[in-house]
Amino acid sequence: MLTIQNAIDGRKVTSASTRTSAVFNPATGEQIATLPLSTRDDVNAAIAIAKAASTAWGATPPLKRIKPIFKFKELLEANADKIARAISNEHGKTHADALGELQRGIDVVDFACGIPHLLKGEFSRNVGPDIDSWSDRQPLGVVAGITPFNFPAMVPMWMFPVAIACGNTFILKPSERDPSAPMLLWELFQEAGLPPGVFNVVHGDKSAVDAILDSPDIAAVSFVGSTPIAEYIYARGTAAGKRVQALGGAKNHMIVMPDADMDQAVDALMGAGYGSAGERCMAISVAVPVGEKTADRLVEALAPKVRALKVGPASDAQTEMGPVITLEAKRRISGLIDLGVAEGADLVVDGRGLQLQGYENGYFIGGSLFDRVTRDMAIYRQEIFGPVLSVVRAESYDEAADLINTHEYGNGTAIFTRDGDAARAFADKIEVGMVGINVPLPVPVAYHSFGGWKRSLFGDHAIYGPEGVRFYTRIKTVTARWPTGIRKGAEFNFPSLK
Ligand code: NAD
Repeated sequence: MLTIQNAIDGRKVTSASTRTSAVFNPATGEQIATLPLSTRDDVNAAIAIAKAASTAWGATPPLKRIKPIFKFKELLEANADKIARAISNEHGKTHADALGELQRGIDVVDFACGIPHLLKGEFSRNVGPDIDSWSDRQPLGVVAGITPFNFPAMVPMWMFPVAIACGNTFILKPSERDPSAPMLLWELFQEAGLPPGVFNVVHGDKSAVDAILDSPDIAAVSFVGSTPIAEYIYARGTAAGKRVQALGGAKNHMIVMPDADMDQAVDALMGAGYGSAGERCMAISVAVPVGEKTADRLVEALAPKVRALKVGPASDAQTEMGPVITLEAKRRISGLIDLGVAEGADLVVDGRGLQLQGYENGYFIGGSLFDRVTRDMAIYRQEIFGPVLSVVRAESYDEAADLINTHEYGNGTAIFTRDGDAARAFADKIEVGMVGINVPLPVPVAYHSFGGWKRSLFGDHAIYGPEGVRFYTRIKTVTARWPTGIRKGAEFNFPSLK
C-alpha cells in the first residue's frame, strides 16, 4: 500500500503525526494508500521553508520565474495519462473526464506563463514638476491553498501556478481523499527546475488547515470546498489579518424555455447533471422548464436517458459515470433521495441500491431524477453533490428567474432558448457569477476568472485569470522627483497642483 508523504523544500518528508487517513479506490472500496494528518509543527516547518524561499523567489525577474512554469506545462502534457489515471483511481471519474479536468488546469499554467505582462503596472510622467509616478504589482510572500476532492488536479492548478508566477511561494493542503494527483503535480514541478521551497505540499485535516489560518507568516489563503467550511475559513483567516478567497458550494439551475431545442437541452442536462457523478461545483442539479408542456416533454425525454446511463468503474472505457467519492457520500446521497420521496417529490428514476457485478463494494449510485420538486423542499435547498437531478416546474420566465435569484447559492446557471430577448435579460439580471446561454457548464476559460456570487464565494476576488493576479499581488505606487536640485523650502500645505 502506498504511503503518501508531505513535500517540503524540494523533498518528500515524513510527518511527525501519529494520525493518518486512509485513501480508497471508490470503484472497489479497497484502501489503496495512507496519508499523514499533519501536525501544527509539520505545517509550521513548511511555512518556515516557504518564507525563507520567498525573498529570493520574489526578487527573481518575472521572465526567469516563468522558465520552470513553461517546462512544467510541457511535463504535464507528457504525463497527462499518468496523472489522469491517478485521478480516476482515487476519485472514480472516467479517464476522459480526468483528462478534461487536467487540460483545464494546464490552461491556467499556460495563462501563468504570460503573467509578467500583467505585473508591468502603469507609469505617469510629469504628475508634478519633475515628478514621475508608477504603480506595479508585487508579491505577497507566502500564500496557501486548501482544495476539495472533486478536482484533485485542476483546482490546485487554479491557484499555485498563478501565485508562483506572481512571485509568491506556496503551500498546498490538498483533499485527503485523492492526494496522488497533487503529488504528481508537485513532482513534475520540481523536475521542471522550480527552486526548492517555492511549492510545498502538506497533507492533513482541520488541524493542518487551522495551522495555516493562524500563521502570521501566511499572507493569503485560497480555499475551494463546501460552503460551511468556506465560511469558516473566511472568518478565521480574515480575523488573523489575511487576504482570503473562499469558494463554496452550489445549486446550479438550468432554465429550459418553451422555444429551446429540446434535444440539445436534454443532452446538456445529461452531461452537466450526471457527468462526474454530479460531483462538480458547476453541475446542473436543478432543471427549470417553463410551462407544463415544456416540462412534460423534458421529463419524457430525460427519463429513458437517465435509466440508460452507463455506470461503472473508470477502468471500463464504456463507462459514462463512475462511483461517488466515499461510502459516507453514497449513504448521504441515498438518504437525500429517501428524503425527497418523503417530502412528496416524484422520483421518476431511482438510482438507489445499484449493484455492479464484480464491484459490489464500490460506491456506486445510479442516475436519479426527481420531478415536481418545489422550492420549500430540503432536496431543493441543499447541495446534494451526487447524480441527482431535480425538475422544478415554473409557469413563467419570471418565476424561473426568481427561483435562481432567491436561492442562497449563486455559482453557475444556464438558460436554453432561441429567444435573444430572454437570453439578454437573463445575462443582465440574474444574480449568479457564471452564466451560460445554451452552454450548460459555463466554466470561464483560464484568461477570464472563476467565481460565484452570494454564498458560493466569500471574499472579494474570483480565482485564476486577472482576478487571480490581483489576489496574489499588492499594488505599490512610487512618486519620484528628478532632478533633486530645486529647493523651495519646507511646504506645510498638502501637495497639490493648484
Ligand atoms: P470540503 O469542504 O469537505 O473540503 C474541502 C477542503 O477543506 C479539504 O481540503 C478538507 O480537508 C478541508 N476541510 C474539511 N473540513 C474542514 C474543517 N472542519 N476545517 C478546516 N478544513 C476542513 O469539500 P469537499 O467535500 O472536498 O468538496 C466538495 C465541495 O466543494 C462541494 O460543496 C462543492 O460544491 C465544492 N466545490 C466548489 C467549487 C467552487 O469553485 N465553488 C469547486 C469545487 C468544489
